[in-house]
Amino acid sequence: MKPRYLILMLIAVLAVAPAVLPPYYVTLLNYIGLYTLVVLGLVLLTGVGGMTSFGQAAFVGLGAYTSAYLTTVQDLPTWLAWASASPWLTLLVGMALTAIVALVLGAMTLKLSGHYLPLGTIAWGLSLYYLFGTLESLGGHTGVSGLPSISLFGWALDKGEKIYYLIWAILLCSMLITQNLLDSREGRAIRALKGGQLMAESMGVNTFRTKMVIFLISALFAALSGWLYAHTQRFVNPTPFGLHMGIEYLFMALIGGVASVWGALLGAGVLTMLKQWLQDLLPQLLGNTGNYEVIVFGIAIVLLMQRAPGGLWPLLTRLLPDSWKARRAARTIDDDANELPQREAPAYGEVLLEARDVTRCFGGLVANDAMNLDVRAGEILALIGPNGAGKSTLFNQLSGVDTPSSGEVLFRGQRINGIPSRRIARMGMSRTFQHVKLLPEMSVLENVALGAHLRGSKGVLAAALRLDRAEEARLLGEARRQLERVGLGDYLYAEAGSLALGQQRILEIARALCANPCLLLLDEPAAGLRHKEKEALGQLLSRLRSEGMAILLVEHDMDFVMGLVDRVVVMEFGQRIAFGLPAEVQKDPAVLEAYLGGAE
Ligand code: ADP
Ligand code: MG
Repeated sequence: MKPRYLILMLIAVLAVAPAVLPPYYVTLLNYIGLYTLVVLGLVLLTGVGGMTSFGQAAFVGLGAYTSAYLTTVQDLPTWLAWASASPWLTLLVGMALTAIVALVLGAMTLKLSGHYLPLGTIAWGLSLYYLFGTLESLGGHTGVSGLPSISLFGWALDKGEKIYYLIWAILLCSMLITQNLLDSREGRAIRALKGGQLMAESMGVNTFRTKMVIFLISALFAALSGWLYAHTQRFVNPTPFGLHMGIEYLFMALIGGVASVWGALLGAGVLTMLKQWLQDLLPQLLGNTGNYEVIVFGIAIVLLMQRAPGGLWPLLTRLLPDSWKARRAARTIDDDANELPQREAPAYGEVLLEARDVTRCFGGLVANDAMNLDVRAGEILALIGPNGAGKSTLFNQLSGVDTPSSGEVLFRGQRINGIPSRRIARMGMSRTFQHVKLLPEMSVLENVALGAHLRGSKGVLAAALRLDRAEEARLLGEARRQLERVGLGDYLYAEAGSLALGQQRILEIARALCANPCLLLLDEPAAGLRHKEKEALGQLLSRLRSEGMAILLVEHDMDFVMGLVDRVVVMEFGQRIAFGLPAEVQKDPAVLEAYLGGAE
């Protein structure tokens, strides 16, 4: 059976549910739908993007209160009076207000890292909650009542079983949009956030913008849920928008499986049903009333996180055939798709990268002291030196991760000091990492397609509406071509984490090649590789060189370097101590003393 039949069946069941279920269950389903919408935002933000937010309930409140206020207050200022005519208009206002608030809060908090970000979300979650409770015009802690019901094409959705259809239609559309988004160029950029900002930026991703986008989307989903909630209840007070609800939404996401769209539905469903059930059952068992379910929940969640840290959905999908996952990507690659346009290749021997007196000081330590080197098209230059010599520091100056204290770096004749690495990547410089940085659960093909990010242009809206398919086919086609070029053509749909280290290093090279670079920077690509893997890597690099690629190699392994490269720069204590052909450098007494002597 195909996945789409399962989904059709689910829709059919949902469609007849209100007709056959008692009202109590319809209400429960309404709540599940409303919660899922919020959790869906957390899937994007926390599960996929890696940013924990405790503050989503506040955005739900923002959506709910905006509509509540505008539809009930009598004397609105004239410039806003138009909005009170219909909840659909107040939805527009609510979404716009939420977007503004999210952009401001995002700008303030998304730059925070580590646990400061979740703390930041708690801070504004609490502030908004107290704002709802304190403002007299919002009814204080008593709240606002008498909200009108939503009408759709003249139908008043004034009963639970009527608004049910609106809630679930909106939810299913939102799930579809989210799924589409994740399965796109922007979706890969969002997923790349988990691979580290450094990696994503060097693939051309503007990570701050990407974070803002998912923060905004998750806030809008929450506000939409709040609007629906307000007009389902026809009454709002601050309670459902407090921090405890923010935590509960996170629980739902965790239980379901934070990284998947269906996990949101599963998590919201399981938690809501279980809570109802325990609320009824526990007081009976224990003989008196109280919030025992909270205690049971706490324990259940700790157990679940121990046993299944990825949540319930991954446990379910393990039962599904692998072919379902592969088919999706395979459908998108189109053999006839046009190839992506290529950069004009520089002339053979042209100087591409030049370091002029690059100096970098860390406090009193001079990690790079007036370093000079150049890399030309069609050659491999090795940068070697003992540990602590300053190789990685120089690598960072060259790739835009760090800025020199003095001196300049020129790439294709243009000064690139201080230019962010994502812009340098666009100019044709691409890199790999000393410690492999890939997304282990994503397929090899998609990992590599991330490298082509900067060659596409379709954004979030196009992806959500699936208007990006032609470009997507070209990007994935390019990823496949590069994988075939480096000899990983048999592993397109394997999980990247399942590859051996040597293959993962080569995957990183394919990802770098996807950006259509004229210069490759490789940081210790042979480290940790077995003999055979080193040979394969050496052959690949030779082949790329013969195709005109310029390669700068930071390496430790002398044997690997000497047989392969054209010229060598040797560093010690931040300075260049030797420079020239491998055979010359190998005999240089300073090198023997400093490097080889020191290594023995
Ligand atoms: P290599 O890659 O050749 O092993 P590095 O470039 O990593 O050497 O380090 C060169 C020197 O600079 C070392 O002494 C290291 O401790 C120092 N160093 C590197 N990065 C920093 C930093 N961010 N802050 C302070 N010192 C640093
Ligand atoms: Mg290093």
